[in-house]
Amino acid sequence: MRCPHCSYEDSKVTDSRDVDDTIRRRRQCLSCGHRFTTYERVHTRKPVIIKKDQRREEFSRDKLAAGIHKACEKRPLPMGTIEKMVDEIVAGLNSMGRAEVSSSVVGELVMQRLRELDHIAYIRFASVYRDFADITRLKREVDTLVAGRPLASQLPLLPEEEIATVARKRKSGPP
Ligand SMILES: [Zn+2]
Repeated sequence: MRCPHCSYEDSKVTDSRDVDDTIRRRRQCLSCGHRFTTYERVHTRKPVIIKKDQRREEFSRDKLAAGIHKACEKRPLPMGTIEKMVDEIVAGLNSMGRAEVSSSVVGELVMQRLRELDHIAYIRFASVYRDFADITRLKREVDTLVAGRPLASQLPLLPEEEIATVARKRKSGPP
């Protein structure tokens, strides 16, 4: 940051302050001692996530990616599909320009994409995320998917087998 008085290139910061989405810094030239102020816009401001229990948590790209990877485990997805999805979701969140976003908004963004991409991954994610109260509701969700199956590009679907797997993992009560 050049000094506006003598054009010297180095200055020290004497104070920083958040003003809306801008950081205001007071600086002092290291050569002539001239004091000046700069305003820096924050371009990549990530929202804080509000969790279900109202606790706040810094958004974590890694955590988001891990959740999606888990749902997509062993699914025959093209290389880079998940990374691209994560990129899109992060970009979507940032472009909202909000200081705080509910975790349910993030969850819906993921489910929207998984639903179009791969039904098995979608069901896996939804079963964790929505915490289906019982296996009947999960089954209904799958039936809706199968009935509405609009995309020829959908990957092979084995709902019964997958439901059994999810049900075992969740240790649900009797149906
Ligand atoms: Zn100066």
